[in-house]
Amino acid sequence: MKNTIEHAADLDSKDTLSDYRGRFHIPESNDKEVYYFTGNSLGLQPKSAQSYVQQELDDWAKFGVEGHFHAKNPWVSYHKILSGPFARLVGANEDEVVAMNGLSVNLHLMMVSFYRPTAKRFKIICEAKAFPSDQYMLESQVKFHGLEPDQTIVEVGPREGEHLIRKEDILAKIEEVGDELALVFWGGVNYYSGQVFDLKGITKKAHSVGALAGFDLAHGVGNVKLDLHDWNVDFACWCSYKYLNSGPGSVSGIFVHSKHGSDDSMPRFAGWWGHDESRRFLMEKEFVAMQGAQGWQLSNAPVLIMASCKASMDIFDEVGMDKLVEKSKKLTSFMEFVFNDISSRYSNCNLEVITPKEEGSRGCQLSVLAHGQGKEMFDFLTANGVIADWREPNVIRLAAIPLYNSFADVYSLGQIIENYLKR
Ligand SMILES: *Cc1c(COP(=O)(O)O)cnc(C)c1O
Repeated sequence: MKNTIEHAADLDSKDTLSDYRGRFHIPESNDKEVYYFTGNSLGLQPKSAQSYVQQELDDWAKFGVEGHFHAKNPWVSYHKILSGPFARLVGANEDEVVAMNGLSVNLHLMMVSFYRPTAKRFKIICEAKAFPSDQYMLESQVKFHGLEPDQTIVEVGPREGEHLIRKEDILAKIEEVGDELALVFWGGVNYYSGQVFDLKGITKKAHSVGALAGFDLAHGVGNVKLDLHDWNVDFACWCSYKYLNSGPGSVSGIFVHSKHGSDDSMPRFAGWWGHDESRRFLMEKEFVAMQGAQGWQLSNAPVLIMASCKASMDIFDEVGMDKLVEKSKKLTSFMEFVFNDISSRYSNCNLEVITPKEEGSRGCQLSVLAHGQGKEMFDFLTANGVIADWREPNVIRLAAIPLYNSFADVYSLGQIIENYLKR
């Protein structure tokens, strides 16, 4: 590899996905396209999203309430058009997934069903410094059951002086908590470090001590390959506005393994959209759950945000995760190479990538510890058209997204960093 514009152009010319960039709106600053490296926070808008949403606005104008049955894509079953794409993204059967609500809401709904503490088995193992919403969710769930978070939630973090969580430490903690362990709740990809976890291994270990395993895939879905059904994962949730490019606050997805999907003995918070659809409009008393993940739905489908999600899912289906991951690995390796090259040539710079070096342990995101002047460099990047993400205390997160970032984007990022160092 070389940190040159010729090499970046050569990689772009060999990239079979390079045309997809033109299918997204790339934001501009000072009449110039920005270098967008925050698709891990909010994915860019597919140009097709507008017509998908317009279709539903038009049908609403044309049909009013009748659109539930007479719209081109009848709203009464609109959520179902996302089940196929979601299932393919997470490696599930279609009836194991459903699109509904927002991510944190869905995590709570899953906890109602899957976290059922007893006097003996009540503890939860989670990652230290999980995304704040996940921490609040866990703590409030624990308190809801009348338990003390301090005595219930067991965090596993990096060892002293390290940035990543060792797999052996996670497995050892599961073994140690053993028959007191109710649930392992973990992120598929850590939002801060970009570390990808072995969900199959964690699930197997959790089951071996009699606990369940559930995952937050906010940073995993659309980023790395997932095989939730075969990994025997109990439940999972994700959002669709990050790597899935579905628009701000767009609809979340849940996975409930088929072994639980028809378990009517599980407690759950119910709503009419989870009720047996053949009798839903009879407005009867007594809830009868739909089989599979659909039985966890509460409300009728938010069609407008689902429409933009569908626009994006059509692109994912066209490309497939295999090709995406193949490009993502090349793009991320190039970005890592550029950072290392710069660090080796400038004595005033040490861009320490804390994301794992092994391809299997990371996705698109690289988290860079910018020793010393991190925030100042970050502000310089922003002023020069780079959209990246700053996380206190001193990490810059950058994700090169295979659907719309180019190798030239990554080269330009490196040049802007060099301009900062040369000032
Ligand atoms: C982005 C993200 C969230 C956000 O939750 P919302 O309910 O969608 O606002 C939660 N958890 C993780 C791990 C995230 O990365």
